[in-house]
Amino acid sequence: MKNHYTAVVVGGGPAGSAAAHTLAKSGVEVCVVDRFRFPRQKLCGGLLTQRAKKNYAAIFGPGWDEMYEYRCNGAKFFDGERLVNSIENYGELYVCDRFRFDARLIDKAKERGAVLVQGERVTVVNARNCVCKLQSGKEITYRYLIGADGVNSVVANSIFKHNANRNGKAFALEATLPASTLSREVAEPEIYFDSIDWGYGWIFPRNDVVVIGLGGLFAKNRDFRAIFNTFFQERFGKAFTGAVKGHFLPFGDYAKSMGRDGLLLAGDAAGLVDPITGEGIAYAMQSGFYAAQSILDALSGHTKNVNAEYRKRCAVITGELAYAAKIRNFLFSAATRELFISALARSESAPRRYMDLMSGDITYRELLKNSGRKLLRLAADKITGT
Ligand SMILES: Cc1cc2nc3c(=O)[nH]c(=O)nc-3n(C[C@H](O)[C@H](O)[C@H](O)COP(=O)(O)OP(=O)(O)OC[C@H]3O[C@@H](n4cnc5c(N)ncnc54)[C@H](O)[C@@H]3O)c2cc1C
Repeated sequence: MKNHYTAVVVGGGPAGSAAAHTLAKSGVEVCVVDRFRFPRQKLCGGLLTQRAKKNYAAIFGPGWDEMYEYRCNGAKFFDGERLVNSIENYGELYVCDRFRFDARLIDKAKERGAVLVQGERVTVVNARNCVCKLQSGKEITYRYLIGADGVNSVVANSIFKHNANRNGKAFALEATLPASTLSREVAEPEIYFDSIDWGYGWIFPRNDVVVIGLGGLFAKNRDFRAIFNTFFQERFGKAFTGAVKGHFLPFGDYAKSMGRDGLLLAGDAAGLVDPITGEGIAYAMQSGFYAAQSILDALSGHTKNVNAEYRKRCAVITGELAYAAKIRNFLFSAATRELFISALARSESAPRRYMDLMSGDITYRELLKNSGRKLLRLAADKITGT
């Protein structure tokens, strides 16, 4: 390991790998530092949408079919036991094992020439002196630094304090069980809207295992373990006895500034997760890519302000997340949640639109424009009892 790189990327998840791959491909000396050795576990449902597939192809090129373990083309939406709607023959949804997915991504960055320093935790970043300090006492200096170190980002905390507040985040619990131990077969992703306040539950198949989880706004829920136990008991008719793990995720609290002084935040470190669906892998890759492109622009003299350039590129993501955050108030608040479930149950097109949203084929802005009038009509029907 050298002690100076043009770019240092803290964190080798999807955001960090996308950034490092893009920079290394253009010949930039880049070093990725991760606190764990790869392959490493990452708590995640592993659902990959068409958006994730498109972003992967744009950044890493071919090889998508090696990135996931399970493929299906529909999903089911529940309110408690009641199946309120489903979609079949949509196209493709994928479920990956992050243990393998992330290792493959970081390998791709290494193949392009990125240096990986693993098993080394970054303790603090001194933006003024451009120094990144590691737990072992080593120091790396940089010209540009990308903070891709996840929801509890040390990099974000080194420059802002916004990351410390947990109330704008969601907390999620998840267990992965052998499919053979469950009382029924799970063939498609199942989404449960009533299982937790301001969030949802999920059951995802992944060949011989099933991933069972739920997540909701931290501030709106109390005993997550008890909520998980009830969810499991109701879905599978027996008490949950295995191991469950928990993790925070950004849920509507994206960092509006996204960095400063040549220091760019990407992925979960910047809060770039859909505040309705919880999708974050696609945005992590996309923002890592934009961060790298902004640095390339700065290195080639196309921009003088790398942070402004990055903010501009990320506006396609942050603009969408801002609309999603508005729509979320309608979907999750107690006053209007029932309306949303009625709309979902009545509508033939709603599940397709939900999937289109996850694919990036329609935007939250377009959804708000197209569905706003219908929802108002439904609300009026409810109020008048027609
Ligand atoms: C329970 C759960 C379920 C989810 N399900 C889905 C899903 O089905 N689909 C989806 O799209 N999204 C899902 N998400 C969100 C998704 O996991 C994240 O959005 C995504 O992992 C973000 O990628 P990232 O690269 O920004 O961060 P991460 O994947 O968190 O990677 C950060 C990396 O930084 C490293 N790191 C952290 N701190 C340091 C440090 N101080 N020094 C050095 N390295 C450090 C970590 O070891 C890690 O490798 C889920 C999240 C949770 C919690």
